[in-house]
Amino acid sequence: MSNVYNWQLGREMAYPYEAAYPGRQFAFVFNINRCIGCQSCTMACKSTWTFSAGQEYMWWNNVETKPYGGYPRHWDAKLLDMLHATGGGPGAWARPSDASRAPYGEYKGKTIFEAAPEAPAEDGSQTALGYLPSDEEWNTPNLFEDNPAGAQATARGQYFRGGGELPAHDAWFFYLARICNHCSYPACLAACPRKAIYKRPEDGIVLIDQKECRGYRKCMEACPYKKTHYRPTTRVSEKCIACFPRIEGKDTDAAGRPYTTRCMAACIGQIRLQGFVGLNPDGTWVEERNNPIYYLVHVAKLALPLYPQFGTEPNGYYIPPRWVPRRYLRQMFGPGVDAAVERYMAPDRETLAVLQLFGKDNHICHRYEIKEGPKVFDKEIRGRRVQIYNDTVIGYDRDGREIIRCTVEEPLHVRSGKHANSI
Ligand code: SF4
Ligand code: SF4
Repeated sequence: MSNVYNWQLGREMAYPYEAAYPGRQFAFVFNINRCIGCQSCTMACKSTWTFSAGQEYMWWNNVETKPYGGYPRHWDAKLLDMLHATGGGPGAWARPSDASRAPYGEYKGKTIFEAAPEAPAEDGSQTALGYLPSDEEWNTPNLFEDNPAGAQATARGQYFRGGGELPAHDAWFFYLARICNHCSYPACLAACPRKAIYKRPEDGIVLIDQKECRGYRKCMEACPYKKTHYRPTTRVSEKCIACFPRIEGKDTDAAGRPYTTRCMAACIGQIRLQGFVGLNPDGTWVEERNNPIYYLVHVAKLALPLYPQFGTEPNGYYIPPRWVPRRYLRQMFGPGVDAAVERYMAPDRETLAVLQLFGKDNHICHRYEIKEGPKVFDKEIRGRRVQIYNDTVIGYDRDGREIIRCTVEEPLHVRSGKHANSI
């Protein structure tokens, strides 16, 4: 085992390989508050990459209804139980000694790599604490869709009248859209006895070499997010490839410039923002103040990693849903949740402008700038003063070409009376 720096945990941790970082890292932010569970992302991915024989139960992108849904079934609850038994958990965070290197504090529990020696003997030797889901656990990808927690029973035929007020609703659920996180310390890669899994040096995308894989499924056992899949027709494993031909600008519409993945481009709710971040020699992020991903994660601190305590340093970040009980969210996104939800409920001027960049163009946004506009709203909402300025946010691609220009207030188009009943 080597010692590597995991900035999401605010400390060094044990990992089977020496640290090695790509020049730039593929990363994304999903705004859960906007997801409508339409599954357009899921179908865009399926119809592109996993529509063939042997891939029937393979969903590289999935959207599950939390708290009960999961693909495979109960993937996170099962691993959390295993991790808690070794002293991990939401309480195991200490205040940071150096906030710049440990923005969420220091995680005092064990990661899946550190807890692996404590795996039950019957599970055999493991590189990362994990389990192999059963076939039954994979066969209902959207079970518990729209099932809320905290709902009260009502008489048959009577509408539920509860729901409650912010900060947390009594009855709640939310949609969690997931793809492979192209982790900085991938457990799938660490566990592969064939060394068939690698991280691309140019963008950090994690791939399985189909010629080297022998289908041992150690990656499936080790990935805490359960994002590698076994294909019985070829007897090898497959996973999300981050649509790398599109990232390389090879899509026919991309004109040679980096293009977003299929799931990002198809997102109806415009909840997704994809980009790249620069990395320092210790794996922390290079300060790029006007990179929208850097801004949302490190400046606004609005977007948080999914289950950082697992220790893989996932490169997918989420703006947490504001109506969900905080205790649940803290377990899922770490101790940064309370501040992130507060900021989202009364976003500052720059944050509101950056949130407009989501889903606006298929080219990847590398940098933004803001042109100030007039104040259009000033009110107190739930004890907070909310001011809105109709600023214009402009997004640029890798080559500095303008790809996005939009205002905070969306333009309103009213159909003329002449066309009222026409389509
Ligand atoms: S999410 Fe899982 S499959 Fe993807 S890189 Fe991380 S450990 Fe590997
Ligand atoms: S397409 Fe977007 S809004 Fe629809 S389910 Fe997927 S992430 Fe959610």
